[in-house]
Amino acid sequence: MEISKLDKLIKPSGTMAISNKARELKSQGKPVIGFGAGEPDFPSPEYVVEAAKEAIEDPKNHKYSPVAGLASLRNEIARTTLEYSGFEIDPNNILVSNGGKQAIITCMLAILNPSDEVIIPAPYWTTYPEAVKIAGGNPIFIQSTKEQDFKIDVDMLESVKTDKTKLLIWCSPSNPTGVVYSKEEADAIYQWVFDNNIWIMSDELYEHLVYEGENTPSPALIDKNLNNTLIINGVSKAYSMTGWRVGWLIANNEVMGLAKKIQSQATSNVSNVSQLAAESALKNGLDVTKEMKIAFDRRRNYAIKKLETIDNLSVVNGSGAFYLYVDVNFYCTGKFLNINSSEDFCNWLIENYFIAFVPGEVFGTNGFMRLSYALSDQELEEGLERLATAINDLNG
Ligand code: GLU
Repeated sequence: MEISKLDKLIKPSGTMAISNKARELKSQGKPVIGFGAGEPDFPSPEYVVEAAKEAIEDPKNHKYSPVAGLASLRNEIARTTLEYSGFEIDPNNILVSNGGKQAIITCMLAILNPSDEVIIPAPYWTTYPEAVKIAGGNPIFIQSTKEQDFKIDVDMLESVKTDKTKLLIWCSPSNPTGVVYSKEEADAIYQWVFDNNIWIMSDELYEHLVYEGENTPSPALIDKNLNNTLIINGVSKAYSMTGWRVGWLIANNEVMGLAKKIQSQATSNVSNVSQLAAESALKNGLDVTKEMKIAFDRRRNYAIKKLETIDNLSVVNGSGAFYLYVDVNFYCTGKFLNINSSEDFCNWLIENYFIAFVPGEVFGTNGFMRLSYALSDQELEEGLERLATAINDLNG
């Protein structure tokens, strides 16, 4: 029997695939070090765990709750959005979802019609194009280069704009490059979006993880009524809560109306226990985040220095998120073993040296690999030592 054409159109998540492979090898007793999935190595804060325990005990939380999210959590999201991102929103303009991913898919379903074009700057987070396709849209890529610090500009946007352009997907600090756009760079792009009256979906999951300079301001600071702006955020990265699955979409009334309809048919409310855990994370401020940030920055500096000592690898100084995007082109030309792509290279590293990186193909750029430095200092050192050994072995 025939199944949906989507089967030929979409790929499984490449980041999740690497985590699964690493987990599988670990379960076979292999000493795997994972630079793959972007997931802080810290446990969730104690107060989060306590809030969840309390929530489990309360029978009220064993029942359905509002589709859009608990009012107390949405109030807390509105409060922290104003405090940290600087723009005011009504809690009714927030939809709490199962992680940022569901918020993104719901957002795409709420915005796109068949054959609408969505501009996605590459390298991009692996889920963006697939979410666009699931919603029936067409991803249109613009390729930024290492020489441009993996940043796009207005000329590049202009070169792909058509009368079908509906949306720009925006992520700064960037997953996978760690690059952070300056206010001037971002403002020029936001202005282009507003002048052309298209949508911008700004993924702000990494807003608290900027190690040098200022964070990129949100487009919602300019587009205060959210006429063109959609915001994605969540607790996964900033509070080390990846497994709790709490993210959210912020949008204007019209989008929100449809997004709520979609979620009411898809999943209803996010687990009440997770929502109350997330509320506790937001209520308790950023002390825990700041501590993690110190560790991430230490690891980032260590990794950049160490990579500089390894022959023919180079890296753009990602100053945000917890990723470095390593140029491995030199080793992907078929000259070394049978390595013809960054996927081959990453496969060779995991199979022979038990170090897991995400190949650049997953993010739309062959010849690179993403390194997440959200792992322990000890693993980072050992893993990069193995990478140095691997490259020495390749060079004979
Ligand atoms: N966002 C993280 C990453 O890029 C988690 C994995 C995922 O959801 O794709 O590694």
